[in-house]
Amino acid sequence: MPEKFYVTTPIYYVNDVPHIGHAYTTIIADILARYHELKGAHTFFLTGTDEHGQKIEQAARSRGKTPAEYSDTISSTFRSLWDHFGIRYDRFIRTTDESHKVGVQKAFATMLAKGDIYKGEYTGHYCVSCETFFTETQITKDHNCPDCGKETQLLKEESYFFRLSAYQDRLLTWYDANEKCILPTSRKSEVVRFVEGGSR
Ligand SMILES: [Zn+2]
Repeated sequence: MPEKFYVTTPIYYVNDVPHIGHAYTTIIADILARYHELKGAHTFFLTGTDEHGQKIEQAARSRGKTPAEYSDTISSTFRSLWDHFGIRYDRFIRTTDESHKVGVQKAFATMLAKGDIYKGEYTGHYCVSCETFFTETQITKDHNCPDCGKETQLLKEESYFFRLSAYQDRLLTWYDANEKCILPTSRKSEVVRFVEGGSR
């Protein structure tokens, strides 16, 4: 049996057109895929676009388009750029693809049935631009976003949470047993600390 090699880029966010950072990541993934293919591995190279989020809705509206129209345009800009660079991906996934929706629903239904998802409440300072919640200690003294500097909104909302704590011990054992499971090592320590912290 030939070795198997799987690589994915992040699925790129379609709130704006691609920039050099997207090209950089995708070209590296393409190099890795070709290298492993040359070595005789069965390779699978995935890339695509993430088409859900408030920022996309806002970007679409400000251009007088529906989120779907806007996503179609930007997503095809990504694809034609990869064609231009001769990127040989095996699949270009869009989070609006029917197969992706079905897959996500199946994953969530499984987690719900296992008791891994629970309803709770979340309060935080939300930056629309970064689509990120920040804690009281993270925001600036003017209540602005620590990343982009824009104003944050204090939001309280009912949310569904994943019961990561139930997997804490197993995860930590696994990280410990698999030295190179997360690279670079500095990032691994970060992840281990996060999980050790008993994530909520
Ligand atoms: Zn921000």
